[in-house]
Amino acid sequence: MEHALQHRERVGVSDFVLLEDFRSEAAFIDNLRKRFKENIIYTYIGNVLISVNPYKNLPIYTEEKTKQYYKKAFFEAPPHVFAIADNAYRSLVYEHREQCILISGESGSGKTEASKKVLEYIAARTDHLQNVENVKDKLLQTNPLLEAFGNAKTNRNDNSSRFGKYMDIQFNYEGGPEGGHILNYLLEKSRVVSQMTGERNFHVFYQLLAGGDDALMNQLKLQGRPEAYKYTTDVTTQSNQRHLDAEQFRVVREAMKVIEIGQQEQLDMFEIVASVLHLGNVKFVQNDKGYAEILSHDANSGNVAELVKVNSLKLREALTSRTIDARGDVVNTPLDQEQAQFARDALAKAVYDKLFSWLVSRINSSLAPKEKDSRSSVIGILDIYGFEIFPKNSFEQFCINFCNEKLQQLFIELTLKQEQEEYLREGIVWEPVEYFNNIIICDLIEARHKGIIAILDDECLRPGDATDASFLEKLTQGLDGHPHFKSHRKADSRTQKIMGRDEFCLIHYAGEVTYNVSTFLEKNNDLLFRDIQSLMATSGNAVVQDCFKDYNLRSKKRPETAITQFKNSLNELIKILSSKEPSYIRCIKPNDNKAPMQFDDKLVSHQVKYLGLMENLRVRRAGFAYRRTYETFLERYKCLSAETWPNYRGPARDGVQKLVETLNYEREDYRMGNTKIFIRFPKTLFETEDAYQIK
Ligand code: ADP
Ligand code: MG
Repeated sequence: MEHALQHRERVGVSDFVLLEDFRSEAAFIDNLRKRFKENIIYTYIGNVLISVNPYKNLPIYTEEKTKQYYKKAFFEAPPHVFAIADNAYRSLVYEHREQCILISGESGSGKTEASKKVLEYIAARTDHLQNVENVKDKLLQTNPLLEAFGNAKTNRNDNSSRFGKYMDIQFNYEGGPEGGHILNYLLEKSRVVSQMTGERNFHVFYQLLAGGDDALMNQLKLQGRPEAYKYTTDVTTQSNQRHLDAEQFRVVREAMKVIEIGQQEQLDMFEIVASVLHLGNVKFVQNDKGYAEILSHDANSGNVAELVKVNSLKLREALTSRTIDARGDVVNTPLDQEQAQFARDALAKAVYDKLFSWLVSRINSSLAPKEKDSRSSVIGILDIYGFEIFPKNSFEQFCINFCNEKLQQLFIELTLKQEQEEYLREGIVWEPVEYFNNIIICDLIEARHKGIIAILDDECLRPGDATDASFLEKLTQGLDGHPHFKSHRKADSRTQKIMGRDEFCLIHYAGEVTYNVSTFLEKNNDLLFRDIQSLMATSGNAVVQDCFKDYNLRSKKRPETAITQFKNSLNELIKILSSKEPSYIRCIKPNDNKAPMQFDDKLVSHQVKYLGLMENLRVRRAGFAYRRTYETFLERYKCLSAETWPNYRGPARDGVQKLVETLNYEREDYRMGNTKIFIRFPKTLFETEDAYQIK
């Protein structure tokens, strides 16, 4: 048998708290790499799971493996996403503490796959319970459906989620899943009208074009090629892509059936998808007055009107002019070509975005438990975009990184609170740990009146000549001197070289990010001309009408800006999460090539920083690295002392006390809590483990 020490040399340690040199990032990455090369993708930091995307199918999710994690504590089986799921499930069912599993990491690191594994595990784990089959099937089928509409091929990930998702799984008193609820965040709707080279629009466009049968295609007035449509021209070169898309279309239709989306509703949805494609092809010509015009025989706008069932003349008008209500004076002004294109794209984005939200609420009504059980409880799963630092960062990155600051804040509060509470429960003196609290950055962004969001909203709501530049000017004035804000003007010579005149820089907890303010105002205003909105509210397509029905109710009041909506929904989310007991899965992408067996040290090092893993480890190690209940500890090591072996009948705590005395533990090395022994350094434990292995 391989000696414990040799084994550790080869596959590293399964919990980072056991790393001798826990302050060294090199040692951290070394441990990750060792394990990755051995196809071991999971490692713990205490109760946080680190997962490295293997980019290949490993035999670690089999039925047999699944069973291995039933009712197991973390240390009883190798680190695994199933262990996280099982622990959450048991805490919920046996201890009635509501749970949430927070999954983070950059695009392509394996978040969505991890969330699916959690769901699949829970489905398998509750196999013995009756009357939940239907619900489980629905829960599982939400994935292909939402992915069709919300995922796309990007340069980072072939199946990249372009929205944030929080899903509650609701359990009845017996622990059977009885329903679910999904909250969605910030769909990347700009993708509907344009994509970067090598990337695609949302999957559903290609799936419909490849997989729709002739009757459906005729009905939707589509011809089968993505190349025929402006919004979907950038297609992949993969030869069997069309086949895969067609195949997936069938899966999506099947999922719709399971979710109980009726035939008519399905058709309504595809009419919207098709109308977006037609909309992209609407051409504007310049009339002799220099304004935009759509020719009356333009088939594309005709198709759109027919599919979403609005008056086609009115649609052409709404796309080429706009009515402004200037203090009671209603004036209709024509748009120039550029403005008209903007209006057209805004409509395409709005329709698709609303369709996506409609789909989520449609899924929710299908997942809602039939009878409300007041004793039911939930496990929430959060799969949301990780911290982003690109060569050029815009409004979207600002929102995403703000979200990550908030989640980091929650992480700090909850993990430190958890540690503190455990020490208290166990009657051990709490030793405060120094750590960086990022609340200062959250405030910088969201504080009332003075924060970045407030300043941005002020500029958006200010009538007159507000521009991205005037927004930047206000930022620079208002935030000058803040330790986490750098303006172009005040930047030191090094940063100034890198920073442009239209940029500002935030020092996030995960590092510095320079944001370009261009289009901040436009994206935050999220303008859709009123005429278009009111026209859509008259649609004969039930889904479109449902999506735009709020329009008339709200028409007088100015809608909330995009960032304020996001901030509010984020704070709502934080409130939900704070009331639950968290588990964490931190995902890491090993290389940029979507390739198996490649481990890029530099890339991983970045992510270790962004995810705050070294800090996480430091906090965990600052107290006691290792803890076990007396029973467990005694059970494993009782053979190491004549006092406890072969026969010992007393209380476990006394047995452990005798054991550590035999083993010569130093007074500083350990503490005896109410139910657990706490060991400060891994070395102590290793020596004990080695002694056990030799025995
Ligand atoms: P994210 O949601 O973080 O952007 P995904 O979960 O979509 O990333 O993962 C991207 C791709 O990586 C998946 O489509 C899959 O091919 C691969 N992948 C991720 N996790 C695993 C895993 N545990 N085992 C095998 N392949 C994986
Ligand atoms: Mg994803």
